[in-house]
Amino acid sequence: GSVLPRIIGRDLAPAVAPFSTESGETIRATLFPGDGIGPEIAESVKQVFNVAGVPIEWEEHYVGTEVDPRTESFLTWESLESVRRNKVGLKGPMATPIGKGHRSLNLTLRKELGLYANVRPCNSLPGYKTRYDDVNLVTIRENTEGEYSGLEHQVVRGVVESLKIITRQASLRVAEYAFHYAKANGRERVSAIHKANIMRKTDGLFLKCCREVSEKYPEIQYEEVIIDNCCMTLVKNPGLFDVLVMPNLYGDIISDLCAGLIGGLGLTPSCNIGEGGICLAEAVHGSAPDIAGKNLANPTALMLSAVMLLRHMQFNDKADRIHNAILQTIAEGKYRTADLGGKASTSEFTNAVCDHI
Ligand code: NAD
Repeated sequence: GSVLPRIIGRDLAPAVAPFSTESGETIRATLFPGDGIGPEIAESVKQVFNVAGVPIEWEEHYVGTEVDPRTESFLTWESLESVRRNKVGLKGPMATPIGKGHRSLNLTLRKELGLYANVRPCNSLPGYKTRYDDVNLVTIRENTEGEYSGLEHQVVRGVVESLKIITRQASLRVAEYAFHYAKANGRERVSAIHKANIMRKTDGLFLKCCREVSEKYPEIQYEEVIIDNCCMTLVKNPGLFDVLVMPNLYGDIISDLCAGLIGGLGLTPSCNIGEGGICLAEAVHGSAPDIAGKNLANPTALMLSAVMLLRHMQFNDKADRIHNAILQTIAEGKYRTADLGGKASTSEFTNAVCDHI
């Protein structure tokens, strides 16, 4: 029987233009396996897609911390062009050196591809017990500015300055997307998360834009929640939230908190929505260097991200089949990876999911 619950329905991603395969052709999609556990979990997705007969042909490009000896580059023009041309893609995690070295490749991809909204659904998994069984929320993170402007400098010795940039254009765009998403997915409320009591100008402008957009959607409830209160409520009663929209840094942090509510980073998917209808799906987690190359990673988050990509393309049958297979495998509990308290390796879990398709 199906374990696809009410809460994990069809709203993993917004519907945009349907991709047609009526002519029997395959659709080209970009794949960046990424760093650390990226290649292992990308392999899992490829295996699952093959078994489910998803008509996608991957265009694989290396983008990551090591310079590719063939191109002598971290990130090539061809990789970006591939996403722009295909409009759909899946990316693994990319590591960023802390406090030194090259600029974050994730930031560069977001800027270059205009990936303005990062959509992170977080749902309790049936059969996998955590403190809550009613988490059913979506974090929508502004993805291009805020504290992630990349503008940092030393003012004088011992004093550094980091610029938080908020623009009306980016705030309106992400707010518009959040309300559109809520409406398209039958959700009831959008909460704008902020710290405008202190960050008066920046978060103040963000809130003003959310408020403006909310007036165009009278059928969706709108509220404003200060981020500290939001954290407390999320930990005490996450069932109170529906769709949350927020500036970049808050989204980064809050979505990891949300991942913790349902069982950890191995489980939470996301997709980046970009200009021109681009959808680049990726797991919320990073490259997990502590378990890389050991066949220990949980590929669920990347698999669910791939499911989001399929829903974006309106391949709903394939998405349902793969989604159900993942949920059933986790619910049965025989093949769970170590992060969920199980003993299964990445490949054993992947094989079990394939057996459920
Ligand atoms: P992380 O998400 O890589 O790991 C945090 C913890 O969660 C680790 O203990 C890890 O083993 C565990 N974990 C993460 N994903 C898992 C999975 N699929 N299965 C099982 N366990 C999993 O975060 P970090 O250690 O802070 O960052 C490592 C690197 O990843 C850094 O270079 C960081 O910049 C980068 N990063 C990239 C992205 C991205 O590409 N979108 C996101 C976050 C972090």
